[in-house]
Order: sequence, then structure tokens, then C-alpha cells
Amino acid sequence: MKTVNDFNFENKKALIRVDFNVPLDEALQVTDATRIEAAKPTILKVLEDGGSAVLMSHLGRPKGVEQKFSLKNIVDKVSDIIGVQVKYVNDCIGPDVEAAVANLQNGEVLILENLRFYSEEKAGDKAFAEKLSKNGDIYINDAFGTAHRAHASTAIIAEFFPENKCFGLLLAKEIESLEKVLGSSEKPVTAILGGSKVSSKITVIENILDKIDHLIIGGGMGFTFIKAQGGDIGNSICEDDKMELALSILKQAEEKGVKVHLPVDVIAADAFSNDANTQVVDIYHIPDGWEGLDAGPKTNVGFSYVIAQSKTILWNGPIGVFEMKAFSKGTIELGNAVADATADGAFSLVGGGDSVAAVKQFGFANKVSYVSTGGGAMLEMLEGKTLPGIQAILD
Ligand code: AMP
Repeated sequence: MKTVNDFNFENKKALIRVDFNVPLDEALQVTDATRIEAAKPTILKVLEDGGSAVLMSHLGRPKGVEQKFSLKNIVDKVSDIIGVQVKYVNDCIGPDVEAAVANLQNGEVLILENLRFYSEEKAGDKAFAEKLSKNGDIYINDAFGTAHRAHASTAIIAEFFPENKCFGLLLAKEIESLEKVLGSSEKPVTAILGGSKVSSKITVIENILDKIDHLIIGGGMGFTFIKAQGGDIGNSICEDDKMELALSILKQAEEKGVKVHLPVDVIAADAFSNDANTQVVDIYHIPDGWEGLDAGPKTNVGFSYVIAQSKTILWNGPIGVFEMKAFSKGTIELGNAVADATADGAFSLVGGGDSVAAVKQFGFANKVSYVSTGGGAMLEMLEGKTLPGIQAILD
């Protein structure tokens, strides 16, 4: 696996695909710069070697050219974070861009305009990728968030750099962290899966069953398993058409020697609201008119016990409706257990969408081993898929 550490960028122009798809408020100010921070080590490596960096990214979902999605809006933020006044050019291909790249001096950073102002980007257009490839000597992919897409700048472009292409430090770290969990992991390995739907996690579960010792299932998706086993789940969310699949997963887990841990009690509410009336009930006997919105106290103790025994932990998905304070306790206790296990030497990886939001919101981000920056990309890797953006560098 070639990374930026295998290259010396002195007098070279590095063309870096970053994921600067950051959230902006109405005043077009960056509200969360995590993704920019995450790309910083790669950019600094290039500059410290004595090279220059040409950054390309998408931002939002523009339909053609839309100024609110211009990367000009984030130039100041990127400059602050990188510590260099970043230059900007109002296109990503063409003569103006070629001139800006040609004028770029060692130690300088140039940011190109939003790649998705061209429909060719998402279409994975080869001619467009070739034009983009003119913007640097060495291609670096550091955009984990889009590594599962075969877009022009994330995958197709790599073929124009047969020798001079590599992973950025962020993308390399993402791959290594996942490899640590699913590959050469120290046992026992525990996967915690939560979130709303079984259907979105089925392929993940099936792929990881061979690699784990414990499977904790919580959150909304847990109810499909409980109902499938004959439980009364009241108004709790459930995918009736996935009940058979749930039973088949339990059977496969048993055959593979994976211990499955389901919630035993829940905080049931009489409405999907923070102000609802609540009661703690046995998860197999939720009264009609009530729905389970968080893990109950016995469940929290049980899950925490399993986590405390684990040496490798993967966490994807909250185990309650953590967005509402009344139903956030289970996810917080789970986060605490993962943080404690990590402090005791376990390797913990949190990834995939809402669990990342939860660890950030509750302050666990620095207490786990690694927080993945890519939601969809992480899930596809957990599903065992080869991501186009990764494969293109390996080819
Ligand atoms: P996902 O995107 O599938 O990972 O699901 C994340 C969402 O699942 C979060 O917005 C949670 O609020 C939601 N969730 C977790 N537990 C429950 C539950 N018991 N009932 C309804 N939604 C839930």
C-alpha cells in the first residue's frame, strides 16, 4: 500500500483529492471543519518535503454552477487550518487552472473549484479525469468520504498516474483501522450495531460474523429480532419483512460461535417525543401503545460488561434515539463503556454516520482509538466491498 510517505514531494506538484464536503451555515461559514483538519497531515507532508499542493474536492450537491457551493467559501477556513494562505482558482480544468498550477511555487497551496460543477465528475468521465490529471505530478487520494464512488477525481483519474499515485495519510489510517478490526484483531472482538434499520446493516452483519466473537444489537433494529422471536414490541419500529432474515442471522451466528447480545429491557415511551411519558419494561413485553426508544438499565449493565471484556471493538449506530435527551442514556453509557475499554488497552473503531455524531456530541471522540470520517464508505468496507477509490490506487 503506497502512501505519501513513499514519495518525496520536493519540487513536485501534488494533486490531492480531499473531502472538503463540509457543512456551511446560511452565512456560508464552515460549521464543522473536521474533514479539513483530517486532510491537514497529508497537505503538510507535501509542503514540508518542499512541494506544492493542488486540492480538489466536491462540496454539496450543486446542479451546475451554484455560488453557494463554491469552494471559494471555504478558502479562509482551509488557510486558517493549514497555516498557509491558500490560493483559489474559479474552475477545476481549463486554461486558467493550468496557468494557476504552473505559477504555483513550492510551499504553496491551490484549491480548485467544486468538481461537481461538472456532471462529468459523478459520471466518472474519462476525458474529464484526464483533464484533471494535468493539474499535478503525483496524485494523492485522501478522500475517504467518497472512496466508495467511482467518480472522475476519486478513481478514474488514477490511471493517468500509473506510477505516481498513492494514499494520503487519512485514507491510509482509515484502511489500517478497519484492517485492525476485521483482519489481525486481538480477541475477543465485539461489534456493536445499532441504528434504526436492520435492512441497512444486513450485509455488514453477514460479512463480519466470521471475524467477531460478540455481536451487540441495539437501537431500533433490535426490535425486528425481538419480534421475530415472539416478543411483543408495542409500537416500536420494526421491519416485519426482515424478521426471517433476523432469525437466519441468529442461526448463522450460533453456527459460527458468535455470541449475540440483544437488549433485555427498554425505556418505553407513549409518544416519539422527548416529553413523552416513559417506563422501563421487559423488551419482550412492551405494552400496546408504547414504543422502545432507548436501552433500559439492565441492558446497559449487560452491554457494558461485554464491552469491558473486549480487546477489539467496532461500533456502528446509536442504541437509542440519542438526539432526544430523554433517550440518550443508553448510547452515552455504551460510549462510556467503549471509552473505558479503550483506556484499558482495547482498540476501538467508531464509524458510519450517526454513531460518529453521537461520539462527538457526548465527548467520546478523543476517548476511542479511531473515529472514521466516512459514513457510507465505512459501511461499504464493513460489507466487504472493494472501494473504487482504494482499488484505483492499488491497481
Ligand atoms: P442509522 O442511520 O440506521 O444508523 O440509524 C440512526 C438512527 O436510529 C438515529 O437517528 C436514532 O435516533 C435511531 N434510533 C435508534 N434507536 C431507535 C429506536 N429505538 N427507535 C427509533 N429510532 C431509533
